[in-house]
Amino acid sequence: MDERLTRSSLLRLAGLTAAGIGLGASEAEAASGGPAAVSSGLVSCVLTPEQTEGPFYVPGEKVRRNITEGRPGLPLTLRLFVLDVSTCRPIKGAAVEVWQADAGGVYSGESSLRTAGETFMRGVQRTDANGLAVFQTVYPGWYQGRTVHVHVKVHVAGNVVHTGQLYFPDSLTDAVYRQQPYARRPGRTTRNANDAIFRNGGRQSMLALKKHSGRGYVGSIRMGVHRS
Ligand code: FE
Repeated sequence: MDERLTRSSLLRLAGLTAAGIGLGASEAEAASGGPAAVSSGLVSCVLTPEQTEGPFYVPGEKVRRNITEGRPGLPLTLRLFVLDVSTCRPIKGAAVEVWQADAGGVYSGESSLRTAGETFMRGVQRTDANGLAVFQTVYPGWYQGRTVHVHVKVHVAGNVVHTGQLYFPDSLTDAVYRQQPYARRPGRTTRNANDAIFRNGGRQSMLALKKHSGRGYVGSIRMGVHRS
């Protein structure tokens, strides 16, 4: 991890703390959002760019926090906050779906990958009163032609209000991919800067990553959405 990444990560973490993702006294206040919090600069919310759901979406995912089904990989906790972009208030009870490739770059539920009927690395969670949905997964593997990403879809009151993709700093991916089981598949084809989908809004969909207190990483993001 180079110094620039470390510094930018710290800056991002500092921003997130001020915005209510970090722990501390400001969290409850910020999480409550509202116009006063917005005008004070305590919270900011930005519409998260829509990005294609891609070919591997499967409806009706299982409601579960741990989506790994025991598959190998570096542990990754996703902390996904859903906010109403018009008020900056958290949306409680939103259904957040995620799906991603496993550490070997393979999606479940895809006949061309011989995983039809399998459900690994897919799941749904409801947001809590802070608009937070948490998933336990692994750092995604890569597949041909795409940079590393996690797909996300947010439903509110039965409507899809957001479809997007979440991204990782390339220098962190490089470090993770030097470890097993990722190191078995060297030569990933695509980085953020040369990913055609990332180019349209990916920078606003970067996970803020920090080391987990145990092993692996915690990736957080605030997703601003329209309620309908
Ligand atoms: Fe994908």
